Amino acid sequence: MPFRPNSDGHRQTREDFIHPHLAEGTLRLPDGQRAAVLPAIFLPQLTADLFAPLTDHTRHALYKFGYEWALQDMVRIRRQVADAGDGGTNLGRWPLDAKFVLDRWWQPLHATGWGALTVDLSSLARGFACVELHHSVVAAHSPGATQPTCHLYAGLFAGALSFFERVERHAIEFQCAALGAPACRFAVGPGPQMDEVESWRQQRVAPDEIRRRLA
Ligand SMILES: [Zn+2]
Repeated sequence: MPFRPNSDGHRQTREDFIHPHLAEGTLRLPDGQRAAVLPAIFLPQLTADLFAPLTDHTRHALYKFGYEWALQDMVRIRRQVADAGDGGTNLGRWPLDAKFVLDRWWQPLHATGWGALTVDLSSLARGFACVELHHSVVAAHSPGATQPTCHLYAGLFAGALSFFERVERHAIEFQCAALGAPACRFAVGPGPQMDEVESWRQQRVAPDEIRRRLA
């Protein structure tokens, strides 16, 4: 699911999703929700300030933050779909095609600086998805990392797939750009299998081999 321009060739930008309302001094998303624009350093700095030193407990807190964030996003998307009605498109029906939902979810996040996603849903029938993320905000600001750092993103992907599949999914980052990889890669699926993925990662199984085992 690579990010693509619209059918008219227009590549969506931050301005397509965040609109200034000068009279009230706010920024709002197209559906009216308030938004804030912050420098990229804000998130890792906030993480460092709130959670240093990074322990298992704080990693889980970041993961849960992402998980709940994605659930709220999916609730909004579902509401938007319901409000749109059928209208001759694939809007108005739920569950929708997973690719359609994830594309619609991530477009504003991509346009506002959260990175570019490619989601492999070829194993979704077995409950698995693989996510490749380029330009992670967290990884870009994690110098000297010795472990994958994108716990917030892992939570986002777990939350989104959990909502879509209506069953709890977990996510494990098994390759991280903070450790020098060209992109971050995540496995999303049932908890016991994701525990297994994490054990493979800790045993230093190569990311491509982990991906092959999940296929
Ligand atoms: Zn990462």
